[in-house]
Amino acid sequence: MAFGISRLARPQWFFPFSGFGAAEYDASLITPIATDPTGHKYSRGHEQEIGVYQPMTDTAKPAYRVLARKYRPDTFSELIGQDALVRTLGNALSLGRLAHAFVLTGVRGIGKTSTARLLAKGLNCIGADGNGDATLEPCGQCEPCKSIAAGRHVDVLEIDAASHTGVDDAREIIEGVGYRPVSARYKIYIIDEVHMMSKSAFNALLKTLEEPPDAVKFIFATTEIRKVPVTILSRCQRYDLRRVPAAMLAEHLGMICQRESIAADEDALAAIARAAEGSVRDALSLLDQAAAMTADKLTNDMVADMLGRPGRRESQTVLTAALAGDASSALAAFHAAYSRGAEPEMLVTDLLDLIHLASMQAAGGSDDALIESEREMIAGLAGSGIARLGRAWQLLLKGHGELGKAPNPAAACEMLIIRLAHTAHMPTPGELMQKLPKTSPSPATSASPAPAAPASSAPISSAPISSALAAPVEAAAIETSVNMPNSLGEIVALAETNGEMLLAARIRNHVKLVSLKPGNLQIGLVGAAPDQLAGDIARYLSQWTGQRWLVSLSESGGAQTLAEEQRDADDKLRDTIASEPLVAQILDIFPGASIDEIKNPETTDAAVTLPDDNGLLEAGQNSDDEEMSG
Ligand SMILES: [Zn+2]
Repeated sequence: MAFGISRLARPQWFFPFSGFGAAEYDASLITPIATDPTGHKYSRGHEQEIGVYQPMTDTAKPAYRVLARKYRPDTFSELIGQDALVRTLGNALSLGRLAHAFVLTGVRGIGKTSTARLLAKGLNCIGADGNGDATLEPCGQCEPCKSIAAGRHVDVLEIDAASHTGVDDAREIIEGVGYRPVSARYKIYIIDEVHMMSKSAFNALLKTLEEPPDAVKFIFATTEIRKVPVTILSRCQRYDLRRVPAAMLAEHLGMICQRESIAADEDALAAIARAAEGSVRDALSLLDQAAAMTADKLTNDMVADMLGRPGRRESQTVLTAALAGDASSALAAFHAAYSRGAEPEMLVTDLLDLIHLASMQAAGGSDDALIESEREMIAGLAGSGIARLGRAWQLLLKGHGELGKAPNPAAACEMLIIRLAHTAHMPTPGELMQKLPKTSPSPATSASPAPAAPASSAPISSAPISSALAAPVEAAAIETSVNMPNSLGEIVALAETNGEMLLAARIRNHVKLVSLKPGNLQIGLVGAAPDQLAGDIARYLSQWTGQRWLVSLSESGGAQTLAEEQRDADDKLRDTIASEPLVAQILDIFPGASIDEIKNPETTDAAVTLPDDNGLLEAGQNSDDEEMSG
């Protein structure tokens, strides 16, 4: 009966930590871990969590203990994935540099409380012969070891800060610190979720933390280290518990399945390990839950059903098909997963995860974190190349954000898959370079600056072209005779080099050249030219050239302003560029692309750097949008 209840019980981590304030200790804050009449070595708090706490006779079938409790580590060597922490603790212990206060931090269910209890055991262990010293390998035989494991040692006190947040609670601790340990080497306070304590409680503790009696140790555990005041942290030795890598967790689960005679696929265990996100307790709780679902072999599909996420193989099918441009197969795989209850958001998360793993591998990363059955799949995906994977990543990341806003997430997911498959046909920048003709383009027929970046929003392959082009004529002319301008353009350039940008702009837009001789400029004004413009030009020209200038206004004559000239030249250039075979080919490869802007590669920074992936991606997406909306 008890078996049934606990097997079906929700995973332990759904329950809040139940605390240690117990009635028989008169609501005292500091109560030893409860004595358990069943002889189990776990605190009463945990028995209550799963509701199977009951006295048992010898003949009764032992109550089922959830895996997370049954496989709580008894020694540091059983603490998986925390090698660094164990090593540091071991060093501190052997060098006699163990602090009087520790803070253990890490995500939930990663073994903070287990570590705290192990540490308490190690500090108080006297060895099987009664002469041992503090150790990282508690013997488990001596009286302190046994009573701490059973949770009945009077000198090891567990406090749940979540329910004891006040300054009065802290005072009780401080008072207790004054008394020597009853029987053990150290009096040890284990304070769980220490970040929950109030500011005044922390303040009250400060003095004690600074100079506690030699025989007192504090062990704090917290999931949110940032909420613990720095004044407290600075008085503690800090140990970070790392998330356990998925592959290591899967291996651990495999070992437990063997001991518990649970038949399970490697894939299924890997899926559980991934879902647990590095938390051992979550992994074991999920395994418990999954094992309760069937008496047969635990499979990937069953775990996927339980987690509401697509199986890894379905995600892989969607991704492989989409990356190959096969939208219909990708959609079919998505529908299969969706009809089995997989959440669209989970699928996209999964796809992102796969792309991340594949990119890491394509970039030369190790595949140690992968389980055996996944290696081949990831290697296959990595074959797509970093450029394609990066593009898919960006699309999916964007789509993932949109999924939450979409009225129908499944439809949004389908659109995302279609888009992914569609962009698969787009060439990557590297491929594009190879597709383009190797010959250098014929020089443009116009005398204006030559074509450079003919794409919708980013320059494509401008670098090789730019090197073949001559610098603009004007720039060269200015260099040879800086002091005496020979054209309106040179006057503008002179103004710009002298930092008079406003004047330069006004000349460009409002001035028509009638005649120009050294020292004598005749101009016509158009548009809303300011009254003093002619005077300004004369003054500045005199200043820059060191020669007196006369600027006179003419009512008639004059060609175009520089701005008008530029516009005409641009239009002409645009036509010329569009008819270039090279550009025509680019426009052909990117359906819907148009020439928005023409940049002079000699003067723009963009031409110096190679176009990046994003630019190209945007180009691809734009054409996408047009096609989809059209
Ligand atoms: Zn011992």
